[in-house]
Amino acid sequence: MTLERLNTRLAHAQPSATYRIIDRVAARRAEGAKIISLCTGEPDFDTPEHIRQAGIDAIRNGHTRYTQVAGVRALREAVAQKFRRENGLAVTWQDTIVSSGGKHVIYNALAATLNDGDEVIVPAPYWVSYPEMVELCGGTARIVPCSGEDGFKLTPAALDAAINPATRWLILNSPSNPTGAVYSQQELRALADVLLAHPHVLVLADDIYEHLLFDGQTFHTLAEVEPELAPRVLTMNGVSKAYAMTGWRIGFATGPRWLLAAMEKLQGQQTSGASAISQHAAIATLNGPQAFIQQSRAVFERRRDLVVSFLNNTPGLECARPCGAFYAFASCAGLLGRTTPAGTRLQTDEDVAHALLDEANVAVVHGSAFGLAPYLRIAYALDDDALLQACEAIRRFCAATR
Ligand code: PLP
Repeated sequence: MTLERLNTRLAHAQPSATYRIIDRVAARRAEGAKIISLCTGEPDFDTPEHIRQAGIDAIRNGHTRYTQVAGVRALREAVAQKFRRENGLAVTWQDTIVSSGGKHVIYNALAATLNDGDEVIVPAPYWVSYPEMVELCGGTARIVPCSGEDGFKLTPAALDAAINPATRWLILNSPSNPTGAVYSQQELRALADVLLAHPHVLVLADDIYEHLLFDGQTFHTLAEVEPELAPRVLTMNGVSKAYAMTGWRIGFATGPRWLLAAMEKLQGQQTSGASAISQHAAIATLNGPQAFIQQSRAVFERRRDLVVSFLNNTPGLECARPCGAFYAFASCAGLLGRTTPAGTRLQTDEDVAHALLDEANVAVVHGSAFGLAPYLRIAYALDDDALLQACEAIRRFCAATR
């Protein structure tokens, strides 16, 4: 038997498509190419100064040891207060858990609850990590396609049709990566009505892009819209996207205590809790001034307008106006069947993404990586000049296809 045999589930898992593109970008850059990347899912701003200072203070004040597994008490208090203040959830610090990023929260929730044969409903287009995490944790992802005509959102009828006795979880992500779609209060209400009739289904509300919401909309989350569902909703959030803190690795959640206890048990045998320094910085994040949120939201909204109007003036592309996050999800159906100046025939959205990288020096991720083709995901977390340059390069490339 070979020494290099892996865990079977891991062997079957796909490396993240976004990381694959990022690797390709790195390889092209190493060859000397000047690539503009519209791939990455992180704000291009620095973490606000008062938060960075709180991290430095944490080190100076000796917060450099293990913490309680579920997070330091002061951070859990701040998290509970955030959920009360911003989401109207009646929770206390005992109803919270802190982990090493939002991704870690999701993984722990799935790992703590899934058994062989359990299904997880994942509306598509989806964040690339959901199906992979589900499969790694022994479950089966039940992908439910959500079309552009439905705003890339799960309809109550599609949800109802997807639920069966094996359904363990539904994953809802609003605002969405990769489409920027946002569920309104009424849309969540309609999904809640379906869920009320299926008491065996847990719901993971991935609210990581909560604060990146445009056009003056207000944010809603399922447990707030239907409190009766709260005992089976894990409401997940974190500091990564809202406060430009992707590298600090702090995510958190609130949900039923039996679930939080199981996630804590798992975390205790795994990371022993998130970084103490980052936890102390996150206290300053949640309890401190919130002006950064408005500032970054305004910047992203302006960039959204710029990118969407550019894409809709590009031959072969078509893009609905996303309401949140920092992604545009553009149909590239109009490019399929065409040939690029370098002679590449474009048959799939992946062909388009690769040709854009090779011939226009712009990196985007193909929609099929997120479960819906033919699309391109364009992350506009990039300064205006580079963004404009990238949009112009995309337009030139598309216009030159025949
Ligand atoms: N959920 C979604 C939809 C995301 O796009 C991401 C990051 O890209 C995360 C969760 C995880 O965020 P983090 O682990 O950085 O907190």
